[in-house]
Amino acid sequence: MNPFRLDGTVAVVTGGGKGIGRGIALCLAEAGADVVVCARTKKDVDEVANAVRALGRKAKGVVADVTNEDQVRLVAEEAKELGDIGIWVNNAGGLPDATPRYLTRTPLDRWDAQLDLNLRAVFIGCQVAAQVMGENGGAIINISSRAAKGSSLKNGPYAASKAAVNSLTETFALELAPRIRVNAVAPGPIPTENFNQSTNFPKDKPIEQIIGVPLRRLGTPEDIGNAVVFMASPASSWVTGQCLYVTGGM
Ligand code: NAD
Repeated sequence: MNPFRLDGTVAVVTGGGKGIGRGIALCLAEAGADVVVCARTKKDVDEVANAVRALGRKAKGVVADVTNEDQVRLVAEEAKELGDIGIWVNNAGGLPDATPRYLTRTPLDRWDAQLDLNLRAVFIGCQVAAQVMGENGGAIINISSRAAKGSSLKNGPYAASKAAVNSLTETFALELAPRIRVNAVAPGPIPTENFNQSTNFPKDKPIEQIIGVPLRRLGTPEDIGNAVVFMASPASSWVTGQCLYVTGGM
């Protein structure tokens, strides 16, 4: 049997309405999973659910805000209607306010907004996933960032939250072994809506040169989706508590 296949598994993807989450949802479906897509915009989740169905898999689009624990629990309830949940991807995240700021000038409410979306919501997602995954267990994948590696000028709250996601991933992995594997995938630059809003590079030079990607191109949602398929599948059955950097070598 192909160890990268996910046939018969139900996957939840938060923030699956566009960008990287959309790519993850479609890669999981290509690998055979049925997919529950959660995001805040109905039009987006419906579009991705239809794209999953077009690949021959079952799908549901659920509108929810991942910073709200009750709403995340409802996502899990909706997902259980498709079968036992075996994969949970905490992808929703980004920069709720894209204004670059030094930490010394970051108002507390902006700090809180970043940490709520990028860290607290991942904590909620891991807790709920651990509670709803049955005896057969499964795989939780948290979407981190290259920014987790260290300092990130004018992007401090985001970098701190993603570094904490890696820490959370390691601790949940220990707590939940051997029933559930918990890993992270950390993307490098991928020109999604959120990325384009939060970067302001001069248009006369290729962006991958400006930010120095050794593999000489920006990433795609599918680059991340394929890494998630690996982390979700039996191909990674002896991997837990790890963060896989998918960054073009950055
Ligand atoms: P995006 O803005 O294009 O898409 C994010 C999705 O999450 C959207 O569907 C949005 O509706 C949803 N979302 C946002 N807040 C939500 C909330 N509170 N509740 C439910 N859904 C919510 O962003 P993206 O670039 O695809 O980013 C996806 C993940 O990848 C994020 O965790 C981000 O930090 C991470 N990441 C992105 C890049 C990049 O270059 N794009 C790099 C590193 C890490």
